[in-house]
Amino acid sequence: MRLTLSFLLWSAALLAQTHPTLDFSTKAGPLKLTAIRHASLMIEAGGQVVHVDPWSQGNYTGLPQADIILITDIHGDHLDPKALAGVRKSSTQIIAPEAAAKQIEGARVMKNGDTLNVGQFKLEAMPMYNLKRGPSEGKFFHDKGRGNGYVLTYGGFRLYIAGDTEGIPEMRELKNIDAALICMNLPYTMTPEEAADAVKAFHPKVAIPYHYRGADTTAFQKALAGSGVDVKLLDWYH
Ligand SMILES: [Zn+2]
Repeated sequence: MRLTLSFLLWSAALLAQTHPTLDFSTKAGPLKLTAIRHASLMIEAGGQVVHVDPWSQGNYTGLPQADIILITDIHGDHLDPKALAGVRKSSTQIIAPEAAAKQIEGARVMKNGDTLNVGQFKLEAMPMYNLKRGPSEGKFFHDKGRGNGYVLTYGGFRLYIAGDTEGIPEMRELKNIDAALICMNLPYTMTPEEAADAVKAFHPKVAIPYHYRGADTTAFQKALAGSGVDVKLLDWYH
């Protein structure tokens, strides 16, 4: 009996694989960021749980359900009904751009530029779009206005979640960002060098590559060496 119980506990521990995390301090207490996979992450602060772009390719075993869910775009790695159903509960508030909200029951729409207080967080919806890259001439993978990046503020700490974007002017003009999650993967978003160039322009205290499948994040780190931006490389594909 005893053996069975410890075996079960051991199996559960294996299933609940450990995700990389970062801890930040804010005026309202700690904020913890968990890298789940690709663009999927979790933020915990003030006893509340925020899931961003939950995706079935991430391992959610052992992770808490969401009080708040942020969706950035309509593509499958950002809007995944199955993963969404797994992390939402009846009281969960779901925030999404209009194109995504149409496909999610009970979602609340934020348009680029909108601000909203949800729970203990202040949200600003940022544009995210391609400047030059798309599936064919004159077409973009991400059209301006369709998706949202977000700036999430908690206890004065400002976390920028870029979404799928190139180094757009709205990113370059950001102010007072404490930590920034920056995408870098071709052909959909931008190169590590382009990402580093955009990051230099708004100079967050910390920059964290995410949504980088196939890209060389050390090139991003190298390009920012000596800039004063602290680059944190986490394994998002563990
Ligand atoms: Zn994506």
